[in-house]
Order: sequence, then structure tokens, then C-alpha cells
Amino acid sequence: MALSAVLPDTDEKSVADEARALEARYGGLDSRLIIELAIDHLFNEEIAVVSSFGAESAVLLHLISEVDHSTPIIFLETGKHFSATLAHRDRLIEELGLTDVQNVYPLQSSLKREDPFGALSMTDKDRCCYIRKVEPMARAVAPYRAWMTGRKQFQASTRAALPVFEAVGSRIRINPLARWQTADLQAYMTAHDLPAHPLVEKGYRSIGCMPCTKPVEDGEDQRAGRWAGTDKTECGIHLTGLTDTLANISLTESNL
Ligand code: SF4
Repeated sequence: MALSAVLPDTDEKSVADEARALEARYGGLDSRLIIELAIDHLFNEEIAVVSSFGAESAVLLHLISEVDHSTPIIFLETGKHFSATLAHRDRLIEELGLTDVQNVYPLQSSLKREDPFGALSMTDKDRCCYIRKVEPMARAVAPYRAWMTGRKQFQASTRAALPVFEAVGSRIRINPLARWQTADLQAYMTAHDLPAHPLVEKGYRSIGCMPCTKPVEDGEDQRAGRWAGTDKTECGIHLTGLTDTLANISLTESNL
């Protein structure tokens, strides 16, 4: 089934205008209200959440669960996560009562063709991220008009101007926690007795795939341990590569 058969052909410029208008009108609201607005009024059943079940993911997931615990939550199961991340995911599903967590896997055909030994991250990290994250992400969010993330401005200098509402091609991405600081997150976790990711106490402050994640030193960007020692700072699911892939993806029965 072609994507155009799933969603109306929405004009990208009008979506960009819509995102700017939403940011101007609602971007300053409290995060809980932004989530309510998005789920209950703006996008109804056409919105999902993308979560890494990483260091601070419990905060956004708790807020989501309080608004609607059946909101679809997309987890990119790259096959390269720490076992602690998978255990943390299962614990949060149980404790927060999340009923629609979707594990999204890379295409078997891509893994067989491009990463038969599971070591592509050693030779071509961009391609590894593409087949394990970008393509699966595009496939996962394609049925929705919008999705939410837990990204924050403070996490890295590259995210300093992160808005709450932004356009990604013909869809809207919402970052309800964009302006939260580390202290806000910690206070929320304490107030709601939320479990920390087990690796946080070992110095990991942003947690992705095991081969590409290291602990960080005090004073470093929170994301400095991701792809450390390389120029790479993002996996691509938040960059233009996703927009291109979303525009081109063809949703066949076999890859849904
Ligand atoms: S973060 Fe590393 S292991 Fe994970 S998909 Fe990207 S390159 Fe591959």
C-alpha cells in the first residue's frame, strides 16, 4: 500500500506554517498541557510517541501515561541495545501501564544484505544507523500525522534552539520537554518515584546502542558519549534524512 493511500497528500509548506503557528500559540504551555492538547485535540488517534527508553525517558512516558496510557509508543529495536535498556523498557511498560509499545525492527533483507555479521557500525556508522534506525523510524511513523519525542534543548549545543512544535516533511514533531533542564527532570523523577535507567549510575547520561555509547565526564555535553571520537552527533532519525525517507518510503505488506 503506498503511503499516499494511507495519508492525504499534505502540502509541506502548509505543515511548516502550521508548526510555526502551533509554536507561537502553544509552545509556552506546561508540558502536560502540550501532551493533552496533542493527544486529545490536535491529532486525536493519529499521534505516536518515539522513545529510546533511555536515561530520562521515564519522565515523558509517565506524562504520556497520565494522559492516555494506550498512546502508541515506538521503540526502535536495533538489535544493538544494552540488555539493561531492554529490561528498563519492560519495567516501565509494567509500572506505567503502557499498553501499546511497538518494537520496530530493521528489515531482515537489509540486515542480510548490508550487515550479515552485525558489525556494520565499525565500518559505516551512518549506513548502520540508516538500516537500523532511520528506515524503521520512517516506516513506524508513516501512519501518523504527528509524533512526540523526549528531546531537550540542554542535551547538546546542536539542540539549543529546539522548538516544541516543528515540521518534518508533511508531519508534525512535538518536543514537549524541549525547555526542561536536568534539575527539572530529576525533581520530576523523584516526585513521581520513577526508576532511573540502570546505566545512569555508571556515568551514562544519553543511552543508545551499546557499540556507540560511552559514559561522559562532568562538564561534557550529555550526548558526548554517543559516537564518541567521531564527527557524528545524531543517528539521523531527527535529521533531514528521515524527511527524505518518509517521502520515499513505500509501505508494502511485507515491511509494515
Ligand atoms: S547507534 Fe551504532 S549500532 Fe546503533 S544503529 Fe547507529 S551505528 Fe548502528
